[in-house]
Amino acid sequence: MSVSEFDIIDSYFNISGLASEQSGQAGNIALGIGDDCALISVAEGHQLAVSMDVLVADVHFPSTAKPELIARKALAVNLSDLAAMGAVPVGFTLGLTLPNANPQWLTAFSDGLRIAAQKYSCPLIGGDMSKGPMAISIQVHGTVKIDKAMCRTGARPGNLVFVTGLLGEAGLGLDLVQGRLAHRTLSVRETQVLESAYYLPEPRIEFAQALSGLASSAIDVSDGLLADLGHIARSSGVLIKVSADKLPVSPLVQKIISHESALEKALSAGDDYELIFTLAADNVSALESISEKTGLNCTCIGEVQEGSGVICLDKTGNQIETESAGYNHFL
Ligand code: ADP
Ligand code: MG
Repeated sequence: MSVSEFDIIDSYFNISGLASEQSGQAGNIALGIGDDCALISVAEGHQLAVSMDVLVADVHFPSTAKPELIARKALAVNLSDLAAMGAVPVGFTLGLTLPNANPQWLTAFSDGLRIAAQKYSCPLIGGDMSKGPMAISIQVHGTVKIDKAMCRTGARPGNLVFVTGLLGEAGLGLDLVQGRLAHRTLSVRETQVLESAYYLPEPRIEFAQALSGLASSAIDVSDGLLADLGHIARSSGVLIKVSADKLPVSPLVQKIISHESALEKALSAGDDYELIFTLAADNVSALESISEKTGLNCTCIGEVQEGSGVICLDKTGNQIETESAGYNHFL
């Protein structure tokens, strides 16, 4: 890079609205960008929740995608992991590998990152940079009350299974972004909705915080509903039964593709970043008030039983075989 790493940090990353204010500010960040480490304070009775996602160009997003959208997605998918634990965002670190220091790209990327950092009150507190093929690693830090984190291990027979929002739009959005779904078949609004679903997932942070202490387990949908439910089933040592006809498949997706393909998207496409969680039946009315208060719909899609694995049943109780078990980078 012709400009120095430090110039880039000062111009695009250590900036107001994106980076945490410097030392001495209120809140958890005691020291942000500029020293060898950032310092995070954790209030008594809380734990630090840490998660990282690596996004590689042309694996997780097209390298030609708008830098602002790449940035927003990169932070949002990380925040979705904090949400899945019921944690409150505190700050994030950024590992950025770029083939060159293109000022237009960096400006747009930094703008996108600032929008997401402000929206979710999660400032940038440090990072690292290197020249190489484009990749973005973000590590988020959050806090959660001790014993209140929603782990994958807590699902119990008799629990009900819920999912927030709608399923399938991000999966179809990816088809659109990758050219498998033709733009000309869609209205401008439909294109916008699908692209946003893929690039701008909404981490369910507020909802998840209200849910922690209520749900017995939770995970976010990043690899596909069945694959992610599989993680809960395995970690908890239970069987999860999903009723296909109860799934909140996006009406827009159902309008654009066949019923079977829409169902397949809802079950197996990743990227929706909705929350799936299990809950004792006694807690359903408390869940309904959280849903009302946060304005986020959630749908009961199945139940937990003794056994192992995940099965999906149609209306008549027959098992539906699906093609994909979620995205796996090394298969
Ligand atoms: P070191 O050599 O000790 O790793 P660096 O020179 O890489 O430190 O970084 C100097 C400071 O700038 C550190 O506080 C680091 O966290 C921060 N930093 C480096 N790269 C980034 C980045 N891409 N975004 C935000 N902060 C960064
Ligand atoms: Mg460094």
